[in-house]
Amino acid sequence: MALTALQIYKFLPKTNCGECSSPTCLAFAMQLAGKKAALDACPYVTDEGKAALGAASAPPIRLVTVGTGDEKVELGNETVLFRHDETFYHPTAVAVKVASDLDDAGIKARVEKIVKLDFERVGQRIRVELVAVEDSNAGPEEFARAVKAASEASPLPLVLMSDKPDCIGAALASCKDKKPLIYAATSENALDMAKLAKDAGCPLAVRGKNIDELAELSQKVSSAGAEDLVLDSGSRAMAAVIQDLTQIRRQALKKSFRPLGYPSIAFTTGEDPYEQAAQASSYIAKYASVVVIDCTEPWAVLPILTLRQNIYADPQKPIQVEAKLYEVGTPGDDAPVMVTTNFSLTYFTVEGDVEASKVPGYVVVVDTEGTSVLTAWAAEKLTAEIIAAKVKESGVEDKVKHKKLIIPGFVAVLSGKLEEELSGWEILVGPRESSGIPGYLKNEWKA
Ligand code: SF4
Repeated sequence: MALTALQIYKFLPKTNCGECSSPTCLAFAMQLAGKKAALDACPYVTDEGKAALGAASAPPIRLVTVGTGDEKVELGNETVLFRHDETFYHPTAVAVKVASDLDDAGIKARVEKIVKLDFERVGQRIRVELVAVEDSNAGPEEFARAVKAASEASPLPLVLMSDKPDCIGAALASCKDKKPLIYAATSENALDMAKLAKDAGCPLAVRGKNIDELAELSQKVSSAGAEDLVLDSGSRAMAAVIQDLTQIRRQALKKSFRPLGYPSIAFTTGEDPYEQAAQASSYIAKYASVVVIDCTEPWAVLPILTLRQNIYADPQKPIQVEAKLYEVGTPGDDAPVMVTTNFSLTYFTVEGDVEASKVPGYVVVVDTEGTSVLTAWAAEKLTAEIIAAKVKESGVEDKVKHKKLIIPGFVAVLSGKLEEELSGWEILVGPRESSGIPGYLKNEWKA
């Protein structure tokens, strides 16, 4: 039976230290009772307390780790259904399939392509995290060979996709130390797969024919000792997959239904990369913990990773860059000096456009608490006084022989006041949109 906040509170240290991100122990107890926090957020609960809190201390969606070391991928442990309630913590892992009937060279080539699905966007690394080796029904030896070749070709954690316990057993011999995700236990093989997962200490995916069967199976394999589970409802049609993923998450978070309190996995279908990107994006939005795709085209994968990055960014904390002076290229003393805000998307767009202009320059980035130019201006976070202070503090004055400052066209209204604040500087009004920067620097800029 679920414990109330007051019952939970009795077992907390009552020091109100705030390390759990709640201001008081009672507030933390309320978060726990509402399944919006996990007990391990408080480092001071005694073992007796943990034992007494029992189910209340378990996160509503279990944290499951695939892989080891720097490459490990953490799934689940989410506490809210909607991103606007709080934030999502463990981004959906993206896995790409490799067929086991490829020869070793073919597997190596495919895995190398997967490893290259690794990009930088707004200062953050976004990439594919898992390699899923799919059994092509050529027997345990062939599957084990393919898994070994894939494992040797990359440090990325693996998903071993076979319904045959003997194939999984053979494959685990070469890679169990990398803690792959075993996919999948079904009604036909549940106990054999549970034993393999338990003995190897690996997470196990469970696939039902529907949600009811899935819940039964998850209880069966967890009773057999496989505790780190990932759920697959078995649906493959897009609408049904979204419905099932939503139901699984709702049952776990809103009803505390333990058999469905695990991360989930979804698969794209078909060969069209556009369709796969559309499916994967939908499953990331609602609410897959792992999405398995079958395409390696960067133009199809990058939008999936970009969408994921946006969904898993904290909505209350815009992605920011450090507010300081940046050099784009190797600017000399006649280089242009531009001003922008520290919202990552704004800064990296400006940086990209200055780079594209082939005119090296300085960019003075003002701390606007991660807001874009117009928002910052409207909120009085980008005023003439603030810009002037940042320009003086940046030291750019000592780096250039001119005194010309280019401000975004959207805040042209600041130019007069800024000239008063920055005595001796000429304020130039640049383009309103960053995309106008290359043309402006090439055609209009003069030191
Ligand atoms: Fe209380 Fe623990 Fe939170 Fe500190 S970290 S306020 S002791 S619940």
